[in-house]
Amino acid sequence: MSHAVLGGSNCFRWANCAGSVALLHLIPPGLPTEAAEQGTAAHWIVETRLNHWKEHERDFDGVWPSYAPNNVSLYDEMFEATDVMVEYVADLCALNWGNTWMERRVSLSDEMFGTLDVGSYSPMYRHLDVFDYKHGRMFVPAVDNYQGAFYMVGAVRDLQERGLPLPLTVTFHIIQPNCYHHEGFIRKWTLTLEELYTWWEKIWAAAQRAGTHEFNTGSWCEYCPGTASCKAHWEKTQGYLNQVIAMQPLESPSAEQIAERKRMLDEAMTFIKQQQQAVDVLAYHMAENQGKHVPGYKLVQRNTHRKYVEGAADILLALRPDLADKALKPRELISPPNLIKIIDNDVSSLILYKPDGGKRLVPVESKGAAVASKLAEWFNGE
Ligand code: SF4
Repeated sequence: MSHAVLGGSNCFRWANCAGSVALLHLIPPGLPTEAAEQGTAAHWIVETRLNHWKEHERDFDGVWPSYAPNNVSLYDEMFEATDVMVEYVADLCALNWGNTWMERRVSLSDEMFGTLDVGSYSPMYRHLDVFDYKHGRMFVPAVDNYQGAFYMVGAVRDLQERGLPLPLTVTFHIIQPNCYHHEGFIRKWTLTLEELYTWWEKIWAAAQRAGTHEFNTGSWCEYCPGTASCKAHWEKTQGYLNQVIAMQPLESPSAEQIAERKRMLDEAMTFIKQQQQAVDVLAYHMAENQGKHVPGYKLVQRNTHRKYVEGAADILLALRPDLADKALKPRELISPPNLIKIIDNDVSSLILYKPDGGKRLVPVESKGAAVASKLAEWFNGE
């Protein structure tokens, strides 16, 4: 899937920092994190289940494969988390599946596009709902959410292009089952079309500035792939470091003094961690993709967990029908470590494998044999 430079998912960052777009050409190819991969797999479950609802008016009731198309193992908690989204959407859209779309690409211009998880339009109420599933734990607010505004504008334009009457009101729903927050798992933001239009103006104005050398640090730096090359971010980090160096030991501090110091250190750590993560990505890119020697570090193979081969449940039941009750849960097989305890090696070698987890860069004194870079493998025809 191609990602837009001015996309919906990164709108919060580029709308607040025009300069971040100018740094994109310096950035190494994105390294998918484990959390992002899990999120992609969970989105695939949601899409599959809701498409089944749309076509058959009931949840998907077949046997799931052992892993998602992006090779992430499926497990119980993932299904339970998606239950929250699927039940919520199925409930709200029950009488309106014909006007409900999953994984729909929407665009604000040729360069500004994104894919919304679910959009549902009610011509009777002239109301549009946009649903966004978040698999992560970090709280994401629904109100004043740039990504939400971007998707709502895109969805309205989509209706317009299809000749449907424009909605009078629009609601953005965030469904975040893994985030425990006093606002709950489901949060909403409802706007009139006029109010949404002011967001469209704001996003459009930000898009015109994008790529200029105006840098602006803030919470959106968390999502910026250009941090290692950003002078503004480094100056902010340096400012915090200077404050840390100037600190004196606290003697019998008051609650206010402790609160003040904690706030400053928390902010400093946020910026320092962002610098560290950005440098980690760059060092790995130099070693793996550019084949450079990073002094004091080596590439090693990542450890991975065992996964099931495609059709593992059928193979297992053909070889060991006696294990049906013990090895199968309602929706999938029990986890590989638990299955290994109850089957022989010759059966496990047929249905389990260790996927390639890629490499990581570690200090030379760490455990693990050094392995060749991608560039060296390519030259040696490995
Ligand atoms: S790190 Fe922050 S200030 Fe620097 S380019 Fe990225 S978003 Fe802008």
